[in-house]
Order: sequence, then C-alpha cells, then structure tokens
Amino acid sequence: MAGKIPQPFIDELLDRTDIVELIDSRVKLKKAGKNYTACCPFHEEKTPSFTVSPDKQFYYCFGCGAAGNALGFLMEYEHQAFPEAVESLAQQQGLEVPREQGNFEDNRQRQDLYTILDKANAYYQEQLRSHRQAEQAQQYLQQRGLTSQVAHQFGIGFAPDGWDNLMSYLGRDDLSLRQLVETGMVIHKPEEQKTYDRFRHRIMFPIRDVRGRVIAFGGRVLGDEKPKYLNSPETEVFHKGRELYGLYEANKANRHLDRLVVVEGYMDVVMLARHGVEYAAATLGTAAGAAHLEKAFRYTKEVVFCFDGDDAGRRAAERALEASLGVLTEGRQVRFMFLPEGEDPDSLVNAQGKEDFESRVQAALPLSEYLFDCYGHDLNLEQAEGRSLLVSRIAPLVARVPEGNFKDQLARLLATQSRSEQSAITDLVVDSTPPEVAPAREHRQPEAGDEAVVTALPQEHPRSGPQRFTLAEEATSLLLQNPDLVGSCAVLDELEGSLQVDLQQLKELVALLQQRQSASLNKIMGAWYGLHGKEGGDQLYRLAAKEQLIAPEQCKDEFEDILTRLVEREQREKPLDVLIEKARNGTITEAEKQQMKQLLQRQSASPDQ
Ligand SMILES: [Zn+2]
Repeated sequence: MAGKIPQPFIDELLDRTDIVELIDSRVKLKKAGKNYTACCPFHEEKTPSFTVSPDKQFYYCFGCGAAGNALGFLMEYEHQAFPEAVESLAQQQGLEVPREQGNFEDNRQRQDLYTILDKANAYYQEQLRSHRQAEQAQQYLQQRGLTSQVAHQFGIGFAPDGWDNLMSYLGRDDLSLRQLVETGMVIHKPEEQKTYDRFRHRIMFPIRDVRGRVIAFGGRVLGDEKPKYLNSPETEVFHKGRELYGLYEANKANRHLDRLVVVEGYMDVVMLARHGVEYAAATLGTAAGAAHLEKAFRYTKEVVFCFDGDDAGRRAAERALEASLGVLTEGRQVRFMFLPEGEDPDSLVNAQGKEDFESRVQAALPLSEYLFDCYGHDLNLEQAEGRSLLVSRIAPLVARVPEGNFKDQLARLLATQSRSEQSAITDLVVDSTPPEVAPAREHRQPEAGDEAVVTALPQEHPRSGPQRFTLAEEATSLLLQNPDLVGSCAVLDELEGSLQVDLQQLKELVALLQQRQSASLNKIMGAWYGLHGKEGGDQLYRLAAKEQLIAPEQCKDEFEDILTRLVEREQREKPLDVLIEKARNGTITEAEKQQMKQLLQRQSASPDQ
C-alpha cells in the first residue's frame, strides 16, 4: 500500500455508497420517519438512540455521541484505519483504489514505522521463547505468577543482552536502520560514531495504540540496573502524553468498559489482568493529563485513578485532579483510590486477590470529596481565615469545570463548607475558565426548509444531557452547517501561534473549505478523516450534528459575532489564566487579586465571554 489516495476517488466512493445499506448489513435498522434507527452498536442501551440519515449520509447516536459517515462507520465498527476503510468501500463497489505518488510520502513512511515496530515486537516475543539468555526472564515472569496466556495477551517479549541484537536482525539496510532510529529502537550518536540497541537485557512490553498497532515499547530490567523502567522516546508515532498502556487490551477484553482504572506502571496493568481485573491502563512515565482523560472517556464513563499512598502518590493524585477538572462534562466521573503505604497494585492484587482490589475500587473517593480533602485538610474551618482560604483555593478550580450540574453541585458544596453566600461563590466560579462557552440561546422550533443537518434528526432525546460548546466549537458547528460562511473568516487570520485545540480545528476547517468550495459535508468529512483519523472526524461530526437554535437568516450575523468575540478573547485570555494559576498556588498579590476580580466581573457581565 503506497502513496496517498486521491481525494476525487474518495468523493466518488462516498457518492456511490449508501450509508443505510452499509450499516443495515451489520446493524439491523428500522425506519422511523425520514430516518432509520437502531440500538447503538457503540454503547449499551435498551431503547434506540442511534440514528442514520439517508439524506445527509451520516449516523449519530444521541446516547453516546458516536457520529460519522460511511467511512467513519467502518473505522469505528470494524476498527479499521482510514486507508483500510477506503479499501473496504472500494471493494464493495468493485473499484480499485488508485494511489498518488510523491506529495504524501509521509503517510507511507508512517506505515513503514508501524511495520518495523511490529517486526521488532515479533522478534522480542520470539527471543522470550527461544533465546539462550531468556531463562532468567521466564523465571522472573513465572515468579510473578504470570501465565503464558497473559504474557501472550500483552505481547510480552525479551530483549537479550548485547548492543546490536535488534539492529543486526532488522537494520540490515540503510532504510531499515533509519526507521529503527526514527522509532527510537536504535540510538544513533553521530558525534561518537556509535549506533546501538536502546533496549538491552530487558523484559519488553509493546505499547499499542487503541487500534492495536505497536507504537513504542517499555522495557523492565531483570536485575538492579538503572533505570528500572525504560520507555521509547517520543516519535512520529508515539506521543506519551496521549497514550494509555493497556487501553487496547482492556477494550479487547470487554465489550463495554464500565470503568477504567488508571495505574502507574505496565507491570501493574499486566498483573491486574492476570488476576482478572481486565480494565486497567497506565500512563507512560508521565503524569496523567487532560489528553489521557479525553482518550479514556471515549471508551468509558468512569475513570478511577489508583495511586500509592505515599507522598509521591499524593502529589501525582493532585496533578490528576487538576487535569480532570476541565474534562468533566456531563455524565463523566472521576474517582481516586489510594493504596496502603508501600503497596502498589501489582503487590496488592498478588497478596490480596481480585475481590479485595475490586472492593477498593468500589470505595474510591469521588472527585468532589477528594477535592475538599486535598485542599482543605490543613485548614481550620472553624475560623474565618481557614474558610476564606478554602474559597480562594477551591473556587478557581471549580471555575475550570465545564458548565453543568456537576459544577453547580461543587459550588454549592463550597458555599456550605465555607459558610459563604451561595451567590458569592457562584460569582467566583462562573464561566471564568477558558475555553469559554457560548451562551445558551432561546429555544426555537425548527422550521420547514431549515438546512441544518440536525433538522433531519429527532430534536431531543432523554439520554442526552445538556451539552455546552466552546465559542470556537459554536463557530465550527455553524460553519459546517453553512459552508458559505467561509467568506466571513478573514478575521481569523489575525490569530497565530499556539491556539486552543478547538480554535486550531476551526482554522483548519476554514482552510479546507476554502480549498474545496461547494463540496458536500459528506465529502468534507471524507477529507477530514484522511487528515485526522476517526477521532478527529468524530469531534467534527458532533459539531455538525449540533442543533442550532437560531433562525437561518441570523446565522451569518451570529457567526461573525462569535468570530469577533473569539479574537477579542484570545487577546484577553492569557492574563486571566495566569492570575487563576497564581491564586491557586497562593502567590497572588493584592493588586493582582483586584485585577482578577475585574476580569471575572467583566465576564459575568457578559456571560458568554
Ligand atoms: Zn451510542
């Protein structure tokens, strides 16, 4: 498979494919008015929330938000990568996929990196079975009680001692050697004229992405060498800030993940699975961040962080707490569990077994409880000073939680605990967190002739909680539904540099629409999937499916208004962000407090800002 697939071919393929037929052959659909429905194949439910629109050639689930076109469905349902999904559709239509040369070498090169990592994985597994040094590794795994089934499930292998085992096996020509260096498997130091294997004399854990492709490795020493754990460096295909070790295996073991336990090491994940706890994942030598959580929440509604009970564990928990606040949209839950000092999940599950571990998971602290414990445990709430400190520590954190019921609950809790007026707390936590959300608008019944995508779909569904969107997302949504608005986007050129993800997305969509004027949403999405894969496509489809509550003739004004506010906000946002951080860590001065108050007041005066 070489070269990029030409866009006109993807367009044609989408033209020829009927999404209703495609989905119906896998999930039985029932006609309901203009559309078709079924129980969603992507989450468990008893009444159908999954809707397919033949007009718009896309599907949308009101329960879990799954959305896409024909390509998206194949990627999600069949776990195919974009080129594979194109191949499948082409096959059904009896077409041959043409390939372009040149320009898109990049894509092919990435494919080659996956291939060489896959070969390295096969090599390490073979070494664990047959290498003369492997005995020590096998013994170690046996001592830990690791069955060959679990070792196989996680693809555990062995890197023998020596400087060039992998290199001489896989790096026989210049190209392969370069790929080994690019994937971090081989270290090349030109200044010392040295080239050698990164992983030596270690038990090897392949790190796989959610699709099961090997993207990196973790290696654990057999003796006392340092470091005990060694990971691949960041590469073209491995970004540790986004990957969770074990998520692929957990998804494979469970049709639906009720919860995901996030632990600290790969051995913890493997040992938990060995004892039947097959829903654990680990961050990879980095603190759990918002990107990890966003990824986890694509597969489950509940994340339980599991930390050691020592100081390091408490610090890590605090960081995880802060990372969680901004992603706690409706229906998502984060809890915290702490293990007895000196224990890790591995040792604990080994000594106490599955039931004990699971009862600890059950008893994990809800985020709200941990939040007050973490920031209030050293305060005397019998005194005004203590209560006031509690507010100054916690209010900025609550402000980061997306608008919704959970945020209201936290604000209420803070008011009670600090014996403050509810309204005072509400003022402090209102909408002060970037990315900002657009105002809820007056509800308008859709009228005949509305062109918005969603008018083809049921307008409300009991399962879907109130969703809030950022300003940039509002703009993106309007633009997807009214592509002509691309003519109003020149103002966005003023924004440069590091932008929020939602804003980057908007800018990129604008560029794509400028390139492909008058292409249908279906085709725009075909191109988007090619650029951003399934996850990027999902994100955009949710916005395309968003219900617009304004009249079509007001769209243009509304859109331009949002863009203006966005640009203004970008210029104002940074200082508030900095002040909130200072207030949080207690380094804020009196003058800065005043400034922050003013900024917050300005925001509550115009709540959409
Ligand atoms: Zn669903």
